[in-house]
Amino acid sequence: MPVDVLFVGAGPANLAGALHLMDLIEAHNEAVASGAKEGEPLEEPSIAVLEKGSRVGAHQLSGAVLDPTALDELIPDWRTLDDFPVERFVERDDMVFLTNSGHFRAPWVPPEMNNHGKPIISLGRFCAWLAARAEERGVMIFPEFAGAELLWEGEQVRGVRTGDKGIGPDGEPLDNFEAGMDLTAKVTILGEGPRGHLARRLIERRELDKDCNPMVYEIGCKEILELPPGRVTEGFAIHGLGFPLDLGTFGGWFLYSMGGDKVCIGLLVALDAKDPMMDCQHLLQRLKTHPYVKGILEGGKVVKYGAKAVTIGGWASVPQLYTDGAMLVGDSASFLNPFRIKGIHLSMKTGMLAAEAAFEAMVRGESTASVLATYKERLDQSWVREEMEQSKNFHASFGNGIVSGMVKVGLAWLFGPSADIKPFDADYTHLKTLRDFQATGPQLGVELQYDGTYLLDKLSDVFLSGTTHDEHQPAHLHIVDREICATTCREQYGNPCTRFCPAQVYNMVENGETGRLEMQVDFSNCVHCKTCDIRDPYQVITWVPPKGGDGPEWGVM
Ligand code: SF4
Repeated sequence: MPVDVLFVGAGPANLAGALHLMDLIEAHNEAVASGAKEGEPLEEPSIAVLEKGSRVGAHQLSGAVLDPTALDELIPDWRTLDDFPVERFVERDDMVFLTNSGHFRAPWVPPEMNNHGKPIISLGRFCAWLAARAEERGVMIFPEFAGAELLWEGEQVRGVRTGDKGIGPDGEPLDNFEAGMDLTAKVTILGEGPRGHLARRLIERRELDKDCNPMVYEIGCKEILELPPGRVTEGFAIHGLGFPLDLGTFGGWFLYSMGGDKVCIGLLVALDAKDPMMDCQHLLQRLKTHPYVKGILEGGKVVKYGAKAVTIGGWASVPQLYTDGAMLVGDSASFLNPFRIKGIHLSMKTGMLAAEAAFEAMVRGESTASVLATYKERLDQSWVREEMEQSKNFHASFGNGIVSGMVKVGLAWLFGPSADIKPFDADYTHLKTLRDFQATGPQLGVELQYDGTYLLDKLSDVFLSGTTHDEHQPAHLHIVDREICATTCREQYGNPCTRFCPAQVYNMVENGETGRLEMQVDFSNCVHCKTCDIRDPYQVITWVPPKGGDGPEWGVM
């Protein structure tokens, strides 16, 4: 199926890009028709968006308090639209530090962190809203299609092949086999979110990351709770540090009110955490036992759960953004400001700037790297670069812990960032062995009394993610050497994937014949967070897309 421009992933970057591209094409055609511009009209443009989830929004998860800068440019009248999916607008904005049993409020927060008046959104609902507007404009959206591999013509990207359906666990076709579809495109834009499957392949093959730091991540676990009726009376956004993380582990938490009686709570933990016992879902439950948090959430019932990796390398990890026939946008290219922990506005703007380069390629009938390089030129002139450059050394600043990191970040805020970009290593290189790691802080394992409503064990949370996978397909988590799991990794790290996976996909199970503990992969639990692909100390795990339509059903996250 040939198209002009193919967007892979129906997240905020690509949906904003698709809408902006339609705006540009319409304006161009009108100008040509009226004689105001020379050239040919772009007749019947074919713009497509692929989405691996069952529908747009099913795989979207974020905080999220939206910085509306990019939305103001894309849809200036959004505030007056009745169907804009806002949960609440922020009326109270707090920054709180938690000690083991107490708390104190920050007396002052930098203006960049001010959220007052901004909309609290569900990213899933927001993306569904953007997608509906894009479809009205003629963009074709294909949910349930995962991009399995890139199509190449020499070294030029020529589109994407979607995954086959109806393949048995042994890799052989079943009766309902359906071959994947080849979508050929003049321009392919990859916006698959953090650790994008195709983005990684593209970056590796074209060595797009040879001049930048590796992409680094946090894992975020999030729950939505329903509070007793009438308890949520205002729009609040509370951000916090401290408990349950120790001062050697980078991370933080958020607590936002949503529509009706709902609130959401999330905990972020850096995937370069040294602790081999790190378990973000467990830490989120610990956070809910803190008196300050409990005071807000008590009586609440968890109704939704999800987890996702978050890019935090910022500008230091942005790879080359274009190559022949393809561009990278949004989280797939590290567009998140780690200082503000905000990325939706940056993702949207990168999608819009890539759309401008794609439009130019359509007009010129050529999509070589030299034409698509205008994406980077536009980005360098935009507020995206200005914002991201300010925090280019944010991640490197925390290499020696939270306290020295905050001092360095404070100095950079006061006097501006240093000229050079400081180096850092990939997340998995920081993991310590069981013998070398000395747990000291509140992360030390604590038994919790799960009650099934407020405090949930991992499998109960996974149930609330709505994730499902057809079990009659090959596992989408490839472990190239399971012997390592049963021997070296077990001895050295105690199989950290059994804890850092927020969906209990990895379990060490006794082999009935040998009595040895061996790795069992319960892939149907997977919520597609990509943490295992990032943090596994031996780098033997690779996440690939399962059958299109499988995976979590977040929608409201
Ligand atoms: Fe995340 Fe990997 Fe677990 Fe899936 S298996 S939920 S990608 S850590």
